Amino acid sequence: MTLNDVYRKGEEMLLNAHIPDADVDAAYLMEHFFGCDRARLIIHGDENADDAFTEKFFSAIEERKTGKPLQYIAGIWNFMGYDFYVGKGVLIPRDDTEILAEEVCSYLYGKKDVKAIDLCSGSGAIAVTLGKICPDCTVEALEYSKDALEYLKKNIALNDAKNVTAVYGDVTVCCGEYDDGIFDLIVSNPPYIESDEIDTLQQELQFEPRMALDGGQDGLYFYRIITEKWHSKLKCGGMLAFEVGERQSVPVSEILEKHGFEKIYTKKDLHGYNRIVCGIKK
Ligand code: GLN
Repeated sequence: MTLNDVYRKGEEMLLNAHIPDADVDAAYLMEHFFGCDRARLIIHGDENADDAFTEKFFSAIEERKTGKPLQYIAGIWNFMGYDFYVGKGVLIPRDDTEILAEEVCSYLYGKKDVKAIDLCSGSGAIAVTLGKICPDCTVEALEYSKDALEYLKKNIALNDAKNVTAVYGDVTVCCGEYDDGIFDLIVSNPPYIESDEIDTLQQELQFEPRMALDGGQDGLYFYRIITEKWHSKLKCGGMLAFEVGERQSVPVSEILEKHGFEKIYTKKDLHGYNRIVCGIKK
């Protein structure tokens, strides 16, 4: 088979299995297994495809047909220009979360001797990006899932983020282990989907850890807990920054207001939804 044959067959198999964006996924897997991006495919598409890689490619296509996320199949995913290992047990870094990562990086950029904590850190996408872009910042990355913690540690090592430390802990209780007024920034992309909504969402999501998605009955459980239990850990003038779900920017802003935050603002994602809520501790 030529590279073109492999690509077309893969795309067709995904199309027949009703996988959305079959062409994008097949192209991604071509690049992943053959190092052959779209431009190369146009120029070298009539060359013979290596048998071993072809076999790997089609077994990945078979996995993708079951709805398994492409990111888990590839085992690695890029976020803000950094690579992160991903797989069963850890939430896949989303494009939406880049809005939050950009915001906290620009907040701490250029500041010396500052301290941040990323709560519900997961793969470490936010913490590692922050640590890399702000090398004078110390970042703690807190995670409660043992599976996710393993990915977090591997991702810190993969990116050689020496100023980032993985910490095992339950965000709802371990705040007691930190002194008041020590952080310049608390950032979190907590689980925020309403419990009853999870089962109705796309197939790919069902492969991801429920623990990383389930935000309780109204989806706001972690915003309340984190704001209530962690606000005293911020310095005055420090920032609390959250990623939020599509209908959550108003209630989350209210939670921040209730706990004495000021200069509360939101920023939109590429689809036009308010995706982050940030506030400054008075
Ligand atoms: N943005 C994710 C989704 O909708 C949810 C992530 C989260 O709960 N923090 O799939």
